[in-house]
Amino acid sequence: MKTRFTELFGVEHPIAQGGMQWVGRASLVSAVANAGALGFITALTQPTPEDLVKEIKACREMTDRPFGVNLTILPALKPPPYAEYRQAIIESGIKIVETAGYKPQEHVDDFKKHGIKIIHKCTAVRHGLSAERMGVDAISIDGFECAGHPGEDDIPGLILIAAAADKIKIPMLASGGFGDARGLVAALALGAEGVNMGTRFMCTVESPIHQKVKEQIVANDERATNLIFRTLHNTARVAKNLVSEEVVAIEKKGGAKIEDIMHLVSGQRGKVVYEAGDPDYGIWSAGMVQGLIHDIPTCKDLVERIVSEAEALIRGRLEGFLNGKTAKAAE
Ligand code: NAD
Repeated sequence: MKTRFTELFGVEHPIAQGGMQWVGRASLVSAVANAGALGFITALTQPTPEDLVKEIKACREMTDRPFGVNLTILPALKPPPYAEYRQAIIESGIKIVETAGYKPQEHVDDFKKHGIKIIHKCTAVRHGLSAERMGVDAISIDGFECAGHPGEDDIPGLILIAAAADKIKIPMLASGGFGDARGLVAALALGAEGVNMGTRFMCTVESPIHQKVKEQIVANDERATNLIFRTLHNTARVAKNLVSEEVVAIEKKGGAKIEDIMHLVSGQRGKVVYEAGDPDYGIWSAGMVQGLIHDIPTCKDLVERIVSEAEALIRGRLEGFLNGKTAKAAE
């Protein structure tokens, strides 16, 4: 499949693996690249900008295909040195960046100055339009189904992607809730030029998280998420577990401050979930798409399956409707 996304970023398939804290490391990103999709190393997963430089180098040793780096700007207890991470990305010769979060202007300006192509991930049409005006090359529009931060408008992909496609002119990836061929074909129909998948790529052989967490994703259904930080206007969709249930209960009482829940939500605690494989130890991100994830394939098998099934869906089921076949026969 050729789309404006594959042409712009020089990849084989219209599929991306966007930033994921503690997950977007060289092992996964190189496997995604070798599968012909576009992977992103998550900058802030690396403790320092120097470590990021090493991670980019390690990724280059495992693939000669294009890959990018994600830089996300969110509220943090100790704000990371964003400008230093940005400099590390530029000096490493990275040519594709995914930005996400608040006020990316200074980052966008600097990346553009260095000839870097930018996909900005956002959760509202108005933010997509504003990023387009800032000069980014593509938008990743992220529906309410997504893992991580869905914003505060609660607009699901079915509406958000189509509404964004009506207004945004640059190429768009559909994000949030995508994990299989049906999602990809739907995204293309809604006006996107490809999909961005997070949770689906977390649950692959090469994903650098504990096997038990992958098995938990397979066991979970589409209801197994919680929305935390609603009352702090920093909503995050995370896996439903003992810790996220406790956070929701505290927030429901009203008046909770970040200090009241920090011992529960700290990223360091979430990191242990992925390393030690205890899904109830801390907060970890997962989307509603868990309900569509039933296995732990290699990235290559996953990407090949999505692309070949998408082709079969379009040529079989969809074209079948035009040829007057019934849905069943068209399959
Ligand atoms: P952390 O331990 O400082 O914070 C844990 C969580 O609490 C985060 O989700 C953060 O957004 C939230 N938080 C912190 N202070 C807050 C406040 N004052 N109001 C509302 N919410 C608040 O951070 P971490 O999880 O260790 O992450 C480290 C860095 O990585 C942070 O800068 C974070 O923004 C970033 N990050 C990146 C991604 C990504 O996918 N690229 C995802 C999550 C976090």
